[in-house]
Parts: sequence; structure tokens; C-alpha cells
Amino acid sequence: CRNLILILGDQLSADISSLRQADPEADVILMAEVMAEATYVPHHKKKIVFLFSAMRHFAQELRDAGWTVNYVQLDDTDNSGSFEGEVRRAVRRLTPERVVVTEPGEWRVLENMRHWQDDLGLPVEIRTDSRFFCDASTFRGWADGRKQLRMENFYREMRKSTGLLMEGDKPAGGKWNYDAENRKPAKQDLFMPEPLQFEPDAITQDVLNLVEQRFESHIGQLEPFWFAVTRAQAEAAFHHFLDEALENFGTYQDAMLRGEKFLYHAVISAYLNAGLLSPKNVCEKVVEAYYADNCPLNAAEGFIRQILGWREYVRGIYWLKMPGYARENALKGSRPLPAFYWTGETSMKCVQEAVGQTLEEAYAHHIQRLMVTGNFALLAGVDPVEVHEWYLAVYADAYEWVELPNTLGMSQFADGGLLASKPYISSGNYINKMSDYCENCDYNVRKKTGEGACPFNALYWDFLDRHADELGTNPRLGQPYATWRRMPDDTKQEYLDSAKAFLAKLDAGERV
Ligand code: SF4
Repeated sequence: CRNLILILGDQLSADISSLRQADPEADVILMAEVMAEATYVPHHKKKIVFLFSAMRHFAQELRDAGWTVNYVQLDDTDNSGSFEGEVRRAVRRLTPERVVVTEPGEWRVLENMRHWQDDLGLPVEIRTDSRFFCDASTFRGWADGRKQLRMENFYREMRKSTGLLMEGDKPAGGKWNYDAENRKPAKQDLFMPEPLQFEPDAITQDVLNLVEQRFESHIGQLEPFWFAVTRAQAEAAFHHFLDEALENFGTYQDAMLRGEKFLYHAVISAYLNAGLLSPKNVCEKVVEAYYADNCPLNAAEGFIRQILGWREYVRGIYWLKMPGYARENALKGSRPLPAFYWTGETSMKCVQEAVGQTLEEAYAHHIQRLMVTGNFALLAGVDPVEVHEWYLAVYADAYEWVELPNTLGMSQFADGGLLASKPYISSGNYINKMSDYCENCDYNVRKKTGEGACPFNALYWDFLDRHADELGTNPRLGQPYATWRRMPDDTKQEYLDSAKAFLAKLDAGERV
């Protein structure tokens, strides 16, 4: 063939740049399920099913559109187990003039690809991924010379350059950010729409059987499996969100409720990140919904900020700072990740709920990730690499470019404040305000120290005390540090002793 076009598992978009100017008569597409990618962290079973099934469906759509697709299944006898191995085999088989690929979402994979040209002895063209609003070099241009790389500044630039939710040169409604309206706790009596769910078809059923056999040791519940696995399904799921949930998406964005896994969230991140949905298209649809009076501005702006702001910003940070970024550990966290992150077996109701639904669905929403599991790991001084590998493994939407800056930078403050202006930490108070977890917990959120006290309370002060050198002068922590300094010595000591006793139990592997 003329071109061998490699399409990766998160490039399932018909307009992917590797297919530009391609010719179905002369070119061959290669897709491969490879063991190296499925196991370099122990991905959740549902995540593997989602990706393999979506890949198989996409290959079928390409064939229906007239393409020749060489699709290598995990179980194929000659499967070499790596991208490089599969490209090498395909080159031998098809003797192409060159290999074309869209840049991968991970530094490790890109590094490897850069050697292919020499190793294979033929041209390898690595194209920019045009599905994003901002490419790596544009981001570098924005970052160049700035002391601080704040998301809010980047986001405003992106609003201006795309015109999304802009009225002339002014933001819609006159303000850039409506976050203050997006912090309402939810009550159990609210009507909660469920995300649209899909029955597994024969292709998905094959993949379910494969994953059950080959990834038995991986965590996570395999069934019920209900994710969208095609573009049409993902679009139906997104339209369902527009009709049923967008209106309240902003208002309850930070709320958490027992047994309510999705609240008003869109639950489209896995689809977006795999390429089944287009970020540009979903943003345009939400802007349309706002101007058609189908949702309030705080919902539309909150949604746009996640996609146009955060998602693009963390990707920019990732490519700007890798590979060193993955090794940063500003607060020197060294504790192993507690076993309950993999089992949900803890008496802390908030963690039990967040981890429990993660094991069931390979999904938890942003505040559960940031203010429950992330908050606990940060307060307890867990090694950020272990935290990062956990998030990367357990969430269906997690790829390193998006997960690493969110975990290491935003959630664990391991980059020393490049990404977040303060660590996202809280005592039990915040969790109590935003959820109904505490009233159903074995621990008492109002008890500060000692037996039965909510562990987040003592850990919070212990964290601030432990990191006074690094964080004591952070202006955004001025108030808590002033409170800590004013506390009588014996009260301080009670907090520190309580935290120490809790961490000793944790380290001993006892149930906490
Ligand atoms: Fe979590 Fe503490 Fe509330 Fe229990 S009391 S749910 S541990 S915040």
C-alpha cells in the first residue's frame, strides 16, 4: 500500500488528522489492541471493554465507508503486544511507502514513535491532533514569559479566540465566571436524570468475554456494561444530557449524594477523550442551548469552562512540562496508597461511596475525585505517583495527558503550585456541607479529635502544620494558618496526636 495509517484507541474520530488526504484505494488503516497499553497500569475492566469495543465498532464504520482496515485483536495469535511490534509486522506485510499517525496523547508513546523512522527504515509522519482547540505550540506561546500559568487567564484567551459565549469582545452576561452560583448542595428528593444507557451488542459481548478471561486480576465490575461505544450512541447520550440535565448541571456541579453516582453531570468525558464526541461540537451545542433559553448561563459557562478551559489547559501543561512533570513531588508524599482505594473497604462513608462507584462504573464526578479521594490522599501524605497511577487505572476517561496534571498538579499540589494556587484540602466540614455522606458515616464529622472523630478534621490541621515551611506564606492559606497559630498549644497537640494515631492505624493496615 501507499500509506499505512495507524489509528490509536483514543483517536476514534472520522476527521482525525491522520486520515486527511488519505485514499481508501491506496492506503491501509491499522488498529491494534495491544497488551502493553492495556496493562502498563492495571486499567479497570470496564475501561478496557469500552476502548476495545469502541475501537472494533470504529473499525467497522471505517470498513463500511470503504476503507481497508487491518485490525489486530488482543487474542490474535501473532499479536506482538505493542504498537511498535504491530507497526513493524504491518510494514512487513504491506510494504507501505510511509507510516502516518496522529500524535498520541502520551509522552511515553510519542517518544517511542520518534524512533520508528530510523528503526523501520521508512518515513513516519506524526501529525498534530487537530481535535483540540489549542495545540501544544500555541500553548507554549501563551505560557512563554508568564510567571504564573493560571487557568482563568488561559480560559479568557480561549473564549476570545473562539468567540464561544462571547458578545462582541465581552463575555456573555458580563462576567467570565459564574462559579459562585455552582456550589449548591443537593437533596435526595431532587429528580435525578440517569445518563443514557446502551445494551451491549454482539461486538461488545465478545469483548466482555475477552476481558473477563484475560484481565481477571484487574479491578472493577464488568457488568452491567452500558457505555456508548459508537459515535451515534455517544451523540445520543450527549443530547440526552442537553435535554435532561444541562439546566441543573452548573448549580449542583459540586454536590455529592449517597447512591447518586451521576447527579446532573454529563458523563461524556470517556466519549470525548476517546474521540467519539468532538469538543468543538459539544461546546457549540451548549452555547446554542443557552441562546435558545434551554439552560441558564451558569450551566452553559460552567460546561464551557470545563471543556474549553480546563481540558485544554491541562493538556497544554502536560506537553509543556513532560517528562519531568511526572516525577514532581513538592510536598514529599511517601505513604503507600491505602488498600481501600482498590476495595472501598473503609468506614469513611465519603471514601466508601466515591471508591465504591468507581469500582462499579469506572466513573466518579469531579468533586468526588478532588475533594474526597484526592483530598484524603493529599492530607495523608500519599506518594503522588501512586495516586496518579490509581486515577489513571480506575477511570474510563483517564489518559495521561488529562489525568496527570489533574492529579499531580491540581489534586496533589505535587508541582508546588504551578497549576493550582493553593492545595485543594478540606476538613470534614466541606464534605458535610456538600453531601449527605456524613450523616450516614460511622465517624462524627463534628467531633474534632479522638475516638470516632472524622479523620479529615485532625488530618487537615496536621497537614497544615507539617507543611508550614512550604505553605505557611501562601496568601490563599492565610486564614487557616492564622487560625492554627492562634490555637492553644494543647488543642494543637490534640489534633496532631489524633492524626498520628489515625495514620498509625492506616499504616498498620487496620480498617479505618
Ligand atoms: Fe467523610 Fe468524615 Fe463525613 Fe465520614 S464524617 S463521611 S469520614 S467527611
